[in-house]
Amino acid sequence: MKKIYLDHSATSPLDREVFEEMKPYFSLKFGNASSLHSFGREAYEAVERGRERVAKVLNCKPNEVFFTSGGTEADNWALKGVALASKGKKHIITSSIEHHAVLHTCQYLEKNGYEVTYLPVDGYGFVKPEDVEDAVRKDTFIISVMHANNEIGTIEPIEEIGRIAREKGVYFHSDGVQSFCKIPTDVNKLNVDMFSISAHKFYGPKGIGALYIREGTTLEPLLHGGGHERGMRSGTENVPGIVGLGAASEIGSKRMERDAEKMIALRDRLVRETLKIKDSWLNGHPVKRLPNNAHFCFSLIEGESLILYLDEKGIAASTGSACSSKSLEPSHVLLRIGLKHEEAHGSLRITLGRENTREEMDYMLKVLPEQVEKLRELSPFKTKKQLSSFKSTE
Ligand SMILES: *Cc1c(COP(=O)(O)O)cnc(C)c1O
Repeated sequence: MKKIYLDHSATSPLDREVFEEMKPYFSLKFGNASSLHSFGREAYEAVERGRERVAKVLNCKPNEVFFTSGGTEADNWALKGVALASKGKKHIITSSIEHHAVLHTCQYLEKNGYEVTYLPVDGYGFVKPEDVEDAVRKDTFIISVMHANNEIGTIEPIEEIGRIAREKGVYFHSDGVQSFCKIPTDVNKLNVDMFSISAHKFYGPKGIGALYIREGTTLEPLLHGGGHERGMRSGTENVPGIVGLGAASEIGSKRMERDAEKMIALRDRLVRETLKIKDSWLNGHPVKRLPNNAHFCFSLIEGESLILYLDEKGIAASTGSACSSKSLEPSHVLLRIGLKHEEAHGSLRITLGRENTREEMDYMLKVLPEQVEKLRELSPFKTKKQLSSFKSTE
């Protein structure tokens, strides 16, 4: 059976060209970038070329790019690093629909004496810039609002939030893991001071990412040791990973517009056709969303069961968010945009990639309505719903 991968926001395949560029750094070019001999210099040059390639996509200086082990570390570092450096200031502002890498870091900081305002979002998942402005206090040291949501794809108004942060003299961090190489991420247009990215979300390798840190931003390192990354992130550089991150950034940014156009066309048709299924709806904003994201709910079904049914048919998609889909609690994002528990349970996230085709969408559109129908036949909620509608007509 041919397999169809529609879960690119969980992770993406490694681009062949990226892999080819990485290969020598696992074997012949194995040097430590800190060594003074030729092996070391070769590795050092590869690391710096990776930094330049990432900086170009962010429109920043190479020395404002700091490599990390991925998006989670970059998010942790931005929040904890600034917290440790902002003595006396105690207050953080974030949104209630952030990735767990931000939310759980905030909860950890709360346990350690910090105070966090979790801003609400509207039905599309938008944070209101006015809410950010109203939440700022004298002791606020950081605002962290994601660029694009990993579940429902909503693109947040971060330029405006960044403008407010600057006016108020508060640092602004944005989790750009889902947006980088999918929509423009010029850090100067976005008004961010810190920006997290992760290679495996845009056809690069897993275990490598970066935090953009605007020159003049004061934060503490989390890892101490040999003083790598100009003393800000110790640990021998992941040279093949950095080469992969750099290559994926360059390729991704070159292809971005073309890929987005193609994915939007496939996605919009998928949405149009899927919404013909009875009692279904699209979550997130119809237009201000990532080009590759479609997020649906189908009443009376369990998202987990739908994922397994689709998997049997060779289709890989997800429900809730990848990290929480093993738990029974429905996604915090779906609850925050106002869905009821039982509605949130019936969710399906489709995230396309550059390799998906119209034929694959045709297959999906043939399989999906059948599987939804099948699950509804079996639904334990069915009787409940019938009962409640019966009651309401009494
Ligand atoms: C995947 C993801 C992360 C975590 O990145 P890792 O590199 O997997 O640690 C953080 N934030 C968002 C929005 C993500 O989608």
